[in-house]
Amino acid sequence: MNAEILSVGTELLLGHTVNTDTAIVARELSTIGINVLHCATVGDNPGRLEEAVRQALSRSDILITTGGLGPTGDDLTKETVARVAGRPLALHEESLRRIEEYFQNRPWGESQKKQAWLPQGCTVLPNDVGTAPGCVFDTDAGKTVVMLPGPPSELTPMLTRYAIPCLAKKENAVIVSENLHVFGMGEGSVAEFIDDLMQGANPTAATYAKENEMFVRVTARADNEEQARQMMEPLAQKIRERIGSYVYATDCESLEELVVRELGKAGKTLATAESCTGGLLAKRITDVSGASQVFEMGAVTYANRIKEKVLGVSHETLEAHGAVSEETAREMARGIRRAADSDLGVGITGIAGPGGGTPEKPVGLVYIALCDGEHTWVRRMAPGSADRPRSRSWQRNAAASHALDMVRRYLQGLGGLEG
Ligand code: ATP
Repeated sequence: MNAEILSVGTELLLGHTVNTDTAIVARELSTIGINVLHCATVGDNPGRLEEAVRQALSRSDILITTGGLGPTGDDLTKETVARVAGRPLALHEESLRRIEEYFQNRPWGESQKKQAWLPQGCTVLPNDVGTAPGCVFDTDAGKTVVMLPGPPSELTPMLTRYAIPCLAKKENAVIVSENLHVFGMGEGSVAEFIDDLMQGANPTAATYAKENEMFVRVTARADNEEQARQMMEPLAQKIRERIGSYVYATDCESLEELVVRELGKAGKTLATAESCTGGLLAKRITDVSGASQVFEMGAVTYANRIKEKVLGVSHETLEAHGAVSEETAREMARGIRRAADSDLGVGITGIAGPGGGTPEKPVGLVYIALCDGEHTWVRRMAPGSADRPRSRSWQRNAAASHALDMVRRYLQGLGGLEG
């Protein structure tokens, strides 16, 4: 089956909003073997929208619209599609209830109810993060119509959780995906390593970037789940072999969840001393349920005086090498381990920016140390290039992720702690 994506919104035509929805939808459709033959964009104009819908339904098996499902007067997609398809709108009680729940204790107008009017007999696609539901229905002429909301944060979960499985079912297929989470390698490098493995049609492999991390999604389409998994496994295995220990987990486990789990398994405890990350590492660890079993203490030791007093970093080290140095990171890790009487200690010191950098110690230079009582390993996070400065929050998050990566590599007996 082939599909056409129709994006609705004048802001797209004016260039005020970049049309990322089309890319997201096209990419997801390709994973279930649906070819996109046309993509179009039309403003919030009923006449031109009607013309675009007619054309799409005349030449494509599936029409997917994005945007224009909201409560305002210029949100016309449903009304227009329903008119062209000859399918009147009807009030969907469950959606109305969800909208009323969403607005509990918040002011809202009658116009919001408009979102609960959907084409009669359609399958409703719930909006888990917003108010406008989407829908799927077949026209009398046997064409399939899918309507999705405009904001990518609403469209993406609706598409992947509800619309894609629904379309896959129509194709008499099941879609199974597995995400290989990668830390310490950029999306570009991973794509280079596995370039040839990303060329297949079924199963497919594609890279996705997240802040500081990325994942490779392996997807297969088959008659049943077992068959799909059999098809995916050799491809996922080849990818793991190529990327090696940079793959830290399969499917949705975060670095901090993994670290808490591995600490529990090993029966070990951890304490952290942070400077430039300001407690972010401790926050991420304590976000994980069960952290209290393995996490002893997190100290934010900003001032040199406190590094000396609380962690026992020597005055000479701070004088000779400065607070942002490999030596200070080492002594911070040893000091917090001693103070907490824990199995492992982590120390982080660096320059998060945007100010405070010098030619010798530029913004983005961070030292992260891990001490187990016998050895202390130090990782140096390289500063970003001057023409591509990274934000303070990016730096802090990356430093915390490096610390977590060092701990998980230690616990899993992998090399690569330093670097
Ligand atoms: P809402 O309930 O938020 O009104 P909607 O389905 O009516 O949802 P629109 O009003 O068309 O969606 O768009 C809302 C916002 O979503 C836009 O201002 C824009 O930021 C974003 N958006 C819309 N279409 C796209 C698109 N194709 N690509 C990326 N972002 C989009």
